[in-house]
Amino acid sequence: MNAGPPARRRGSLDLGGAAAAWVCAVTTLLAVGAAVCSPVSTEPHRRNDPQAFLEKYGYLHPDNHIHNTAEVQSAIREFQWLSRLPVTGQLDGATLTRMAEPRCGVTDEGTHDLWAQRINLIFTGRTAPAGRPALRKKRSSSPQGDKWYKRYLTYQIVNWPRHLSPGPVRLAVRTAFQLWSNVSGLVFREVPGGPADIRLAFYKGDHNDGASNAFDGPGGTLAHAFLPQRGEAHFDMSERWTLNGHKGHNLFMVTAHEIGHTLGLEHSPVRHALMSPYYRRLGRNLVLSWDDVTAVQQLYGEREGKPLGGRPVSLPGQVLGWGLRDWELAEVHHGNPDTTQPLYCQGVFDAITMDQNNTVVVFRGSVYWTVPSNGNVSGPFPLRRRWPHLPLAVEAAAFSPLDSKWYFFKGKRTWRYSDSALDPGFPRQNSELGLPHHPDCAFYYATLGHMVLFKGSRYSVLNVETLRSEPYYPRRLSDWSGLPPGSNGALARPDGRLYLFREQRFWRFDPVKVRVTRQGHWARDLGWTGCRNTPLSNEIL
Ligand SMILES: [Zn+2]
Ligand SMILES: [Zn+2]
Repeated sequence: MNAGPPARRRGSLDLGGAAAAWVCAVTTLLAVGAAVCSPVSTEPHRRNDPQAFLEKYGYLHPDNHIHNTAEVQSAIREFQWLSRLPVTGQLDGATLTRMAEPRCGVTDEGTHDLWAQRINLIFTGRTAPAGRPALRKKRSSSPQGDKWYKRYLTYQIVNWPRHLSPGPVRLAVRTAFQLWSNVSGLVFREVPGGPADIRLAFYKGDHNDGASNAFDGPGGTLAHAFLPQRGEAHFDMSERWTLNGHKGHNLFMVTAHEIGHTLGLEHSPVRHALMSPYYRRLGRNLVLSWDDVTAVQQLYGEREGKPLGGRPVSLPGQVLGWGLRDWELAEVHHGNPDTTQPLYCQGVFDAITMDQNNTVVVFRGSVYWTVPSNGNVSGPFPLRRRWPHLPLAVEAAAFSPLDSKWYFFKGKRTWRYSDSALDPGFPRQNSELGLPHHPDCAFYYATLGHMVLFKGSRYSVLNVETLRSEPYYPRRLSDWSGLPPGSNGALARPDGRLYLFREQRFWRFDPVKVRVTRQGHWARDLGWTGCRNTPLSNEIL
């Protein structure tokens, strides 16, 4: 069996003195901040442990967890190079932040050498022997080499993610394979049963490819795959997978990346490469970068026939975005035939708010639902029919009773409406208003008299009268004692209490006691979400 990516098997983690000593050594490398020799966390995934990270992703040998300062600095420099950060050799804030970003679970070991060889081939024009650059590291020395020696490959979707219907998932996977066949000599065909060259499957936690390959729940490692000819791509079942532009991780983008590994590609240091180890949103740009195309063509050659004017087809993300939105709409209108619940009750939503009549409005993808005080849900309604000029989906939404206006947030911009009319001058850049990009949620908070936006571990406060961020913000989310980061939405109820939603759970924050006073499952426990009187599937509980 190929011993290549996702990562080499590692023995059980020694959390004793050696590891603690290492943390002390590293903290002394910190350029700024109070360096404290804290004991290593015994949290099972050790997500915030730089040593575990550098070992898992191939920058440090994992054998005994003992590394000298020179090794550590060199590993950090290599990581910074691949991550396109300033190469300082120090565990600075930007480096630690990048380590915490969602990414592929495949090791980065060998990326630098392979990339150098790829570039060398471009300039020298020589083709790689046996389709593979000659100086490849011996790490994954499969006797047959890390590529397929046939042109026609079959694939199979073994099981399905939660909250997405098989039809759109199948289309997304087919399109992801097509990205690669469009620019190479490969041809792919789905086989629903029987043997297949490449199998795609969703797993939770440890799934029998080694403790270091166990999935880690939402965020962190999203997926991993094996080099040829093992033909396996695994996805973390616990992620919130999406196909539309709304919150969560785009399954199409991650599938296309993991397929690259199953074809023999490793990670790329190029900023917009699909094979960059970090999660990339589906944007307007081409999904495949020049480096992705070069890498697959060096292995398998160019597409034969070149039927489209001699140019390989590399689809821009925007075109795919339109297609994915249509699939999502089909899911909203035809999905979940077994229940009368609105679709959002079974899973997740993008944003939630409440208008001046205490009607709750729930947003998901390109549609919304309304829940008046009696709990009777109406919808889904097309988002852009009520609020023309909005993007295909929003990331945060809030009605402000102070000025009776609707605020919507998506990407780098803010939209403001008086009823259904977009206010002059909008959409505006969040940077002009002093707000973060891609906020998690937004809500009007009477206690402060302002709009509040959460983003990761920080929050900002927008003065809706001046349309400026209040001074001294953003501040840390820990001001809101007990509220978790990464929420889907939040709203304040008429009694002033704040409800924060993340996946299926909610947290109620009391502004007087300044702490969380209740937690639970919103679809089951909160009648005003419009879900309580309908049956729940086991997935929610
Ligand atoms: Zn990867
Ligand atoms: Zn796996």
